[in-house]
Amino acid sequence: MHDEHSLSKRDNWKKSISKTPKKIAHIGVAVSDIDQVLPFYTDTLGLELESVETIDTEKIKTAFLKIGESRIELLEPINNESPIQTFLDKKGEGIHHVALETEAIDERLQQMKAEGIPLINEEAKQGAHDSQIAFIHPKAANGVLFELCQHSEKNDD
Ligand code: ZN
Repeated sequence: MHDEHSLSKRDNWKKSISKTPKKIAHIGVAVSDIDQVLPFYTDTLGLELESVETIDTEKIKTAFLKIGESRIELLEPINNESPIQTFLDKKGEGIHHVALETEAIDERLQQMKAEGIPLINEEAKQGAHDSQIAFIHPKAANGVLFELCQHSEKNDD
């Protein structure tokens, strides 16, 4: 899986895979209480609630609201150890991250690592909706937290 020595693999990747992210997969918004803010998103803005999911390993509860081919992801901490709680304590509620739908997430992470881009996740991990995700450190992007996100090919949305 890890093949940092293989230059030819890297060159092949450059040729065969588009570097351009396909779309904004979602925008993550940190909130204290999803149930409390949800009516604004569904009733006031009129967005369709797609799913609500608690991810114990990440210590978060998420709600995905569909908007065209993108989503808004609400993120609520489920306990004080949650990274979302740390974010709320430091910055308050608001936009937390921007997720880009990408191809070949593992190769891209290796590429960024080789280029010295600071990464929060050097390897992709399981995200919501059958996706593989990894976060780039916000110091790589002037304070913006970017998530790379790759959905399985079977999953069309
Ligand atoms: Zn996300």
